[in-house]
Amino acid sequence: MDFRLTDEQRQITETVAEFVDEEVVPVADEIDETDEFPHDLVDELAELGLMGMPFPEEYGGAGLDYHAYPAALEEIARGSGGLGTIVAAHISLAGNMLYEFGDERQKERFLTPLAEGEDIGAFALSEAGAGSDVPSMETTASRDGDGYRVNGGKLWISNGSVADTVTLFAKTDPDAGRDGISSFVVRPEEDDGFIVEGTEDKLGDKGCPTAELRFDDLWLPEDRLLGEEGDGFIQALKTLNGGRITIAARSIGIAQAALDEALQYSKDREQFDQPIAEFQSIQHKLADMDTKIRAARLLMHDAADRKMRGENFVKEAAQAKLYASEISREVANEGIQIHGGYGYTKDFAAERFYRDAKLNEIYEGTSEVLRNTIAQQLLA
Ligand SMILES: Cc1cc2nc3c(=O)[nH]c(=O)nc-3n(C[C@H](O)[C@H](O)[C@H](O)COP(=O)(O)OP(=O)(O)OC[C@H]3O[C@@H](n4cnc5c(N)ncnc54)[C@H](O)[C@@H]3O)c2cc1C
Repeated sequence: MDFRLTDEQRQITETVAEFVDEEVVPVADEIDETDEFPHDLVDELAELGLMGMPFPEEYGGAGLDYHAYPAALEEIARGSGGLGTIVAAHISLAGNMLYEFGDERQKERFLTPLAEGEDIGAFALSEAGAGSDVPSMETTASRDGDGYRVNGGKLWISNGSVADTVTLFAKTDPDAGRDGISSFVVRPEEDDGFIVEGTEDKLGDKGCPTAELRFDDLWLPEDRLLGEEGDGFIQALKTLNGGRITIAARSIGIAQAALDEALQYSKDREQFDQPIAEFQSIQHKLADMDTKIRAARLLMHDAADRKMRGENFVKEAAQAKLYASEISREVANEGIQIHGGYGYTKDFAAERFYRDAKLNEIYEGTSEVLRNTIAQQLLA
């Protein structure tokens, strides 16, 4: 296995890293404080072609492969965890639903503006009573004339309050369990009955609005159905499998930011007349942080490699996301420890990294659910 980036991939990652250092890092605390969607930064990402990274150029994308895309996303999350979620939900969830399951007309109409960054995408699967247990969803889409009438609601939808295109899951056959779930494209500005109830006040991941949505007799024409009726559950699973690679990337980016900051602080901070970096206990923390990040990055690229080769990557993507998300929280925790009391204040970003890292263990499959997935694959 050789996961070294090619010269071209390295060049792209370096360009993104430069952009992040110049444009994202200086405003990351402000995004965290205001919790406002960073429209200007997203526009700049679009100009750089980063809102459609893995999609082919014919659909407005940049045509990056699954080594370069997560590597670039890692850099974005290193700058801001919230921006990392905005891009991951937009590309890996909403965009990929359209790319993988949309017909040509749907791709042209809905994917291209997403990939060009003209539109923002969201992926609406979870509900108040249906998180890990997706088939228990209650949102329905009933046949009505030459379309569908949607009623119900969704919770926790990243980008949900700002999205121009939402990929929505609803039951077209409520008695058929997981086989009764279908997916649709919703255009909040055009479709009456799409209501944003509000957004969550979260621990971290600021700047990415997490919305509660309600559908009140929302009517969708037939041509908004993605694939066939009943395909929705499998489509969601496939999309989340790919998405887990990018949540691993978000985790690694945040962990790298926590290590970079802790490394610098350990050189600057003096106690007992020497930089704390001279204490072996601090050196060991730094060594463990770096080792964990490196291991997580290799797991991520291994899962990406299998995905690109068309091999089954369910176990590997779950392992990459599980490990990266857990070490992200551990590394961020050690980052605070290295800062001592200052790490527990808003004077340093260490506490933001910790708050942002925690989310990785919850969305796109909790750590418990991912362990179930890995065990199922082992036992199959
Ligand atoms: C900030 C944020 C952004 C999100 N963005 C999106 C989004 O864009 N789109 C979207 O559709 N969803 C989104 N989600 C929802 C997210 O995917 C769910 O929160 C997650 O799947 C867990 O569901 P839940 O919160 O209902 O927890 P529950 O499923 O109720 O889980 C509660 C606890 O029980 C455990 N548990 C549940 N089932 C099992 C089991 N079978 N075995 C062992 N343990 C189990 C869980 O691991 C967890 O510890 C987001 C969530 C957050 C917090």
